[in-house]
Amino acid sequence: MLSKFDYVKPKTVEEAVAFLENNPGTRVLAGGTDLIVLLRRNLLITDHILDIKGIEGLHRLDYKEGKGLYIGAAVLVNEISEAPMIQDKYRALSQAAGSLASHQLRNRATLVGNICNASPGADLSTPLLVYNAVVHIEGPEGKRELGIEDFFTGVKKTALKKGEIVTGVSLPDVQEGDSSYYKKQARVKGHDLATVGISIRRTSEQETLMGMAAIAPTPIRLRELEKKLKNRDFNEETANWLKEEIKNHVKPISDVRASLEYRFLVSGALAKKIMMTLMEEGVK
Ligand SMILES: Cc1cc2nc3c(=O)[nH]c(=O)nc-3n(C[C@H](O)[C@H](O)[C@H](O)COP(=O)(O)OP(=O)(O)OC[C@H]3O[C@@H](n4cnc5c(N)ncnc54)[C@H](O)[C@@H]3O)c2cc1C
Repeated sequence: MLSKFDYVKPKTVEEAVAFLENNPGTRVLAGGTDLIVLLRRNLLITDHILDIKGIEGLHRLDYKEGKGLYIGAAVLVNEISEAPMIQDKYRALSQAAGSLASHQLRNRATLVGNICNASPGADLSTPLLVYNAVVHIEGPEGKRELGIEDFFTGVKKTALKKGEIVTGVSLPDVQEGDSSYYKKQARVKGHDLATVGISIRRTSEQETLMGMAAIAPTPIRLRELEKKLKNRDFNEETANWLKEEIKNHVKPISDVRASLEYRFLVSGALAKKIMMTLMEEGVK
């Protein structure tokens, strides 16, 4: 049974921030697909739930040439996976969104809820990492922006301070010839967090960016490995090298979803598969 709480649904970000400041312990509700599960199991008890879906500006989803993509905090995961412009320009993001849970769940869940929940295996984290996304935050001390890498601070922990909410996430624009791919391995297709999730992006300047989920306490960029890939072409030899080398750059643990050994193996296999797929599409 749910414990008792007051439910508030502000119309503006200012109202939301003021409420959070005056009522410490309030939990923000977006789609509720993480939050309601905790409340139902009494793993979380709170006096106030603040629903952000009534704030019109948080539903903004747009792309502007030269500026990039903006995703408001109330934008649904299905809106992201189904947007042709995202499929075209930020493919790994579209794929990761399409791989999160089931269609019904994606009709409630938000991208911002996914990163605020800060699971090490969050599907939407790795495409945001390879696109150098910026998190837009508003709180009692005003607005601030934070790079996505600095947003994740630990298992289920973020850099959000008391009274702050995330209002949206932005991704810089991409050049012609920029390509990316997301792949995940999960126990149950459509109903489970990744046992390993990986995004690889190859820019038009042949820079490689890699983001991984479920192989460390937070989703991470593999910066050292990226440096090693700097002067390497995408070809079968590099793909075979990557399959082995990646194991030196991840620190998986064993948990209910998979053993450490399995995660090492899957990391290599997925990375190779993505590189081969990009190569077959003409990425060099
Ligand atoms: C059956 C099932 C399957 C799932 N499968 C997957 C999966 O395959 N991959 C995956 O990554 N996840 C999965 N999840 C987890 C969940 O669906 C996602 O993390 C989802 O994106 C959360 O979004 P939400 O809008 O529902 O967040 P909510 O539940 O509303 O919120 C999540 C957390 O973020 C906080 N929060 C939300 N919005 C804000 C904001 N704007 N500012 C500050 N804090 C905020 C909330 O207070 C809460 O702590 C699954 C969940 C279930 C129940």
